[in-house]
Amino acid sequence: MDYDYVVIGAGSAGCVVAARLLARTDARVLVIEAGAGRADAPTITNPSRWVENLGSEYDWQYSYEPSPHVAGRRIPLARGKVVGGSGSINATAWVRGNRHDFDGWAAMGNEGWEYDSVLPLFKRSEDWEDGETDHHGAGGPIPVERVKDLHPAASALIDSGISLGLPYLDDYNVPEPFGVGPLSLNVRDGMRKSPWDGYLGPLQDNPRLTLRSGARARLLTFAGTRCTGVEYEWQGQIHTATASSEVILCAGAIDSPRLLLNSGIGPADELSALGIHVLADLPVGRNLQDHPLLGGFCFETEELPPVSGNLSGSSLFWRSRPEFVVPDIMLVSMQVPYLTAELAQEYPPPAHGIALLPGLMRPQSRGYVRLRAVDGPLEIQSNFLAAQADVEALLAAVELCTELAVEPAYRKLIRSWVAPARRMSRDEAVSFIRTACSSYFHPVGTCAMGTVVDSRLEVHGIDGLRVADASVMPTITSANTHAPTIMIAEAAADFLS
Ligand SMILES: Cc1cc2nc3c(=O)[nH]c(=O)nc-3n(C[C@H](O)[C@H](O)[C@H](O)COP(=O)(O)OP(=O)(O)OC[C@H]3O[C@@H](n4cnc5c(N)ncnc54)[C@H](O)[C@@H]3O)c2cc1C
Repeated sequence: MDYDYVVIGAGSAGCVVAARLLARTDARVLVIEAGAGRADAPTITNPSRWVENLGSEYDWQYSYEPSPHVAGRRIPLARGKVVGGSGSINATAWVRGNRHDFDGWAAMGNEGWEYDSVLPLFKRSEDWEDGETDHHGAGGPIPVERVKDLHPAASALIDSGISLGLPYLDDYNVPEPFGVGPLSLNVRDGMRKSPWDGYLGPLQDNPRLTLRSGARARLLTFAGTRCTGVEYEWQGQIHTATASSEVILCAGAIDSPRLLLNSGIGPADELSALGIHVLADLPVGRNLQDHPLLGGFCFETEELPPVSGNLSGSSLFWRSRPEFVVPDIMLVSMQVPYLTAELAQEYPPPAHGIALLPGLMRPQSRGYVRLRAVDGPLEIQSNFLAAQADVEALLAAVELCTELAVEPAYRKLIRSWVAPARRMSRDEAVSFIRTACSSYFHPVGTCAMGTVVDSRLEVHGIDGLRVADASVMPTITSANTHAPTIMIAEAAADFLS
């Protein structure tokens, strides 16, 4: 079948790219999505139920390989497998990061990605509840609203942060967020509004769109170094589709590199060892970055009101060292007693409880994605906490949690400490951090701008092929990664049309 554009992956970025192509051009667009073609299950639409999708049919169910830095544990890595991708199963927190993130991308040589240039793209994507402002947009496809009617677990973090001296942060999507306040979510009327809902879903009857769901792209096809299309598996058969203009890879930070590697674009030594013909020797799969999230500081409480919003409701941006310009710790409140499986064995979770989850936003550790075999399983290694600086930053975050938990607002709520059971020594805290380390589910960087794609997201040395998803971030943003991924896809749409 012949198309003008083939978009691989109808996830967060793919929905944006395909929708903008349909709206701005008269192109015929094929979208190939491995997961389900509907995103209307209550576990998807109700933001309070997002955790129920972990390990379900809507999750690729990847994991990071064990490493001594995380006490030899395998760490689950959820990825959305449904239209809307991870944007259909995520925790709906809508956060851009810090202006220095994007200025940093530009300073690395990626022209056009500084904050002032990408701000209009962020604004274009959103429908902010307060209407248009200098740094917010109105009327865009993604509704963004602050959490209202805060759950006691969310209020306790805000009140404790303020009594510790932090400023109140009414809107964390300002250029340089610092302080404590409510989350902003991509919800409306209490329902998730994913990139599928906001961008591509409304266009699904467009006659120029062919959406193949349940279809897994296996290989890219080439004429010399020009990408001509894709080979994919659908309904038990192998199909090929050609793109007269371009193929846009939007399969996310794990599967975009997987497709490139299988297609001969990657580190020559790795590919040759697997017998894959090398088309372009590029560091695909290297530079994996993710935010380590400690799960968690857990406390027993009285029975609290039912969970609401996205199970959190508030967050705190903080610097682990006063000289840092950009906050490197983002801590979220949890309305449930969340603990990693390994911590839960040591500290049985209480029937009623809450948690504090500190995440490291500017990690120095770098991981990788590699093929174990041609079109076979992957080796995904985050290398969480391999850099000592990351451990030091989280030690400071543990100290902050300890300080917060003894502020009056938490004292009123907490019946007893569960994990940890008391203040810890440095050695105990290091061991706690290694056992509490989980993923914020924010892998990025595996097809990085600069080394794998150029600043217009075209793969170096290859024609007709772009990557547009979280994998192109050269460095991870200093907050959750969804809004920046949508911004990247908006940029790709501008390059294409
Ligand atoms: C559980 C969870 C919670 C999160 N919480 C938040 C949050 O609250 N806030 C936030 O900002 N970020 C959050 N994130 C991260 C955020 O959702 C992601 O950074 C973002 O959605 C990534 O978008 P993407 O387009 O790069 O990839 P994805 O959205 O994952 O899209 C990739 C798509 O490609 C498809 N695909 C993959 N391989 C193939 C193939 N071979 N053939 C065809 N299709 C394929 C996948 O099925 C998927 O639909 C969370 C993520 C998860 C998983």
